[in-house]
Amino acid sequence: MKYLVIILAVLIAPSHANNLDSLNQKNWIHGSEDCNNNQDPAIDVFQFNESTYILRQNKCLNYEAPFIYVLFGEHTVFVQDTGATAEAELFPLYETIQKLIAEGPNSDLDILVTHSHSHGDHTAADIQFLGKPRVTLIEPDAESVQQYFGLNNWPNGTASTDLGGRELTVIPIPGHQTESIAIYDPQTQWLLTGDTFYPGRLYIRDWELYKSSIQRLLEFSTNNTISALLGTHIEMSKQAGKDYPMGSSYHPDEAALTLSVDDLSLLNTSLNELGSKPEEKVLSKFIIYPVGAVQKYIGSFLGWLKRKTK
Ligand SMILES: [Zn+2]
Ligand SMILES: [Zn+2]
Repeated sequence: MKYLVIILAVLIAPSHANNLDSLNQKNWIHGSEDCNNNQDPAIDVFQFNESTYILRQNKCLNYEAPFIYVLFGEHTVFVQDTGATAEAELFPLYETIQKLIAEGPNSDLDILVTHSHSHGDHTAADIQFLGKPRVTLIEPDAESVQQYFGLNNWPNGTASTDLGGRELTVIPIPGHQTESIAIYDPQTQWLLTGDTFYPGRLYIRDWELYKSSIQRLLEFSTNNTISALLGTHIEMSKQAGKDYPMGSSYHPDEAALTLSVDDLSLLNTSLNELGSKPEEKVLSKFIIYPVGAVQKYIGSFLGWLKRKTK
C-alpha cells in the first residue's frame, strides 16, 4: 500500500516541477566580451514542455536581450512580445514561431501576438507579423489592449483569453509603463510580469501606480497557485545585489530568470517601507529603481519621435 501511495504521488505530481529545475539551471546565451566574434544563434529557444517555450534574444544583437514567451493552446499560439530587433534577416522571430508550430502536433493554429508593454525592446519585430495569415496582433497602446481584452475598469479587474484548453488571465499592472500587463498561465502556473518584475533594475515611471499594481499582483498571487514569476530581462548576476553595468552586452554568470511569490512579497514590503518617496533600493535579487524626471522626459520625447516617424 505504501508503495502504491508513492507511485500515485509521483504520477499525480505536476510534471512541470522537474522542468522548473531545468529552467532555473538553464544557462542562457548571454553575449560576449567581443560581439564581433559571437557565434551564438540570434534566438535561444528553450522548450519548457510540449506546449511552452521561452525565447531569448542574443545580447550581441541588442544588449536588452529580452525574453519572449510562446504558449500553445488547442487553437491558438500566444506570443508575448516580439523582441528588440525588427529585421527578420538578423532576428528571425516570425520564422522561429512558424518552425515551432510546424514541429508541434497540431499546425492548424492562429497566432495571437500581445505585449507585456510597449517599449521598443518588446515590440520591434511586430512588423514581421503584420499581414501574415492567421495572425492577430494587438497594437501595444493602452486603448487597444483594454479594448481587445475587455478591461473596462483599468487598472482594476482582470480579463481572460482562451487559447483552447488553456485560459490565460490578463492583469493590468501600470507603473513601469501605462499599458503594462501581467499574464497568468494556469497550465504552467507561471505569472509573466514583463519589465514590472524581473531579476534586474525595476524601472518605475509612476511610483504610486506601480505600488498599487504590485499590491494587486501580490493579492492575485496569494489567491492562485504560482510556480514562478517570469519577467523579460535578466540584469542581476548570481552575486546578491550585483547588477551588470547598464547597456552591457556581456552577462557572464547570470542570475536565474525565475522569481518567487516570496520575492514579490519582499518587493511589496520594501515599496511600502519607502512610502510615498520614490527611492532606489538594492535587494539581493532585484533593484527598485525609480525613473527621474529627466529620464521620463527623454523617454516621452523618444516615444513621440517614434510615433512621428512611424
Ligand atoms: Zn520596459
Ligand atoms: Zn524591457
